[in-house]
Amino acid sequence: MTRPCSKSGCTRTAAFTLTYDYEGRVAAIGPLSPSVASEGYDLCAEHARSFSAPGDWRVIRHLSLTGD
Ligand SMILES: [Zn+2]
Repeated sequence: MTRPCSKSGCTRTAAFTLTYDYEGRVAAIGPLSPSVASEGYDLCAEHARSFSAPGDWRVIRHLSLTGD
């Protein structure tokens, strides 16, 4: 089972899941969650790599995104 990247117009396969911690103002990118997270966004490697958080949010990447 693969899931598509949630970015509109993107046809790549999701490899990471992005979740937001609204209280801590942190966006976390980690391994693809095994099931669709209600508050998560699936991202392909390309979009996970290029993601930047809005405003003063911090981004935490749980994985090295240097590879494929
Ligand atoms: Zn994508």
